Amino acid sequence: MGNDNTSAELFQRASAVVPGGVNSPVRAFGAVGGTPPFMASGSGPYLTDVDGNTYVDLVCSWGPLILGHAHPAVVEALAEAAAKGTSFGAPTPGEVELAEEIIARTPVEQVRLVNSGTEATMSAIRLARGATGRGRIVKFAGNYHGHVDSLLAAAGSGMATFAVPDTPGVTRAGAADTIVLPYNDIDAVERVFAESGPDIACVIVEACPANMGVVPPRDGFNARLKELTAAHGALLVLDEVLTGFRVSRSGWYGLEGVAADLVTFGKVMGGGLPAAAFGGRADLMAHLTPGGQVYQAGTLSGNPLATAAGLATLRNATDDVYARIDAVSAQVADAVERELSAAGVPHRVQRGGNLFTVFFTDTEVTDFDGARAQNTDRFAAFFHAMLEQGVYLPPAAFEAWFFSAAHDDAAIDRVISALPRAARAAAE
Ligand code: PLP
Repeated sequence: MGNDNTSAELFQRASAVVPGGVNSPVRAFGAVGGTPPFMASGSGPYLTDVDGNTYVDLVCSWGPLILGHAHPAVVEALAEAAAKGTSFGAPTPGEVELAEEIIARTPVEQVRLVNSGTEATMSAIRLARGATGRGRIVKFAGNYHGHVDSLLAAAGSGMATFAVPDTPGVTRAGAADTIVLPYNDIDAVERVFAESGPDIACVIVEACPANMGVVPPRDGFNARLKELTAAHGALLVLDEVLTGFRVSRSGWYGLEGVAADLVTFGKVMGGGLPAAAFGGRADLMAHLTPGGQVYQAGTLSGNPLATAAGLATLRNATDDVYARIDAVSAQVADAVERELSAAGVPHRVQRGGNLFTVFFTDTEVTDFDGARAQNTDRFAAFFHAMLEQGVYLPPAAFEAWFFSAAHDDAAIDRVISALPRAARAAAE
């Protein structure tokens, strides 16, 4: 790519005033080396950085932008909402409409809107504990549910990228009630329920894990979790923050149909603004304040700009939008497989709906240990060769690639024609 002086200067300035120069760790390029381009604007499938370089964006803000950048319907909805005021701290029509949209597509009967996926999972866990009167929770290694104290043990995403097993700052007490099990290992779940069933409030699991790279659930895994939790009076919390409204109009639920007791949402439902939600059976949601005793609140929850962007996104996410995302994702995944094979690079392209990850390994990845066994140096070389050719991949090996309906043939051609050189770089 061309010039990168302004980005380099900004990164230096940022590093003086923001820890590591970024406001979310994976953005710093620590896993791939080099320094990150600073973005100036986005349009459709493209990002333009402050030095004027353009990239085909395969991050899509880490998932939210299924319509691409600056989609006219979203921009218009935002302008209209902003002109009426940015926040009221009082109920607004948009909150009702967004809740209705979510409920129409998913098994949940009620939702509470929050500001981030982290808040959604944190609140769902509190609700599960409050509703069951139990303390212990089960999570799976390599699953990421945001930076909630009790959920950071053996987490994916940045925790995987930076090989942080558990984080300083979480007390032993804060993590003591979290039981971490290997992903996809139903025998381990059965054993834990046999030993500690009456103490377990819930099992939380990514509907299709994508934060250790895409590692789909084995056939029947989520359904069995539902059976086991129900049999022991515990709850199943399916985390659809990443998959929700992206892998289908109803998220992973639309592909697999396992109805959890509680579900968390985020990303797409906020259309690129901070909005997330947790929801579930009405009898469970009734435990929340003000009707019930489980406290949960937020100054900006249900913010009018966020609900406007989310509604505009969901309402424009037609069947054609999902068909396009499915098609381009499959086309690129096939091309990645082809080019890496041609270059003799050991790899596995793993798919979950329209999400995929390339693992630089020659064995199927079914859990976190398998994901971590990949060769991340090959990914770094591959990543930089793509970036130099104007393709912006997630800057970490443990992430899914994200597409939007705005990824037209020209954008996809640029991605596919960049692959042979990147595959050769990964081979070295
Ligand atoms: N849950 C899942 C499955 C996620 O992928 C993420 C973020 O990547 C979160 C929760 C946390 O969401 P947020 O970053 O909005 O706090």
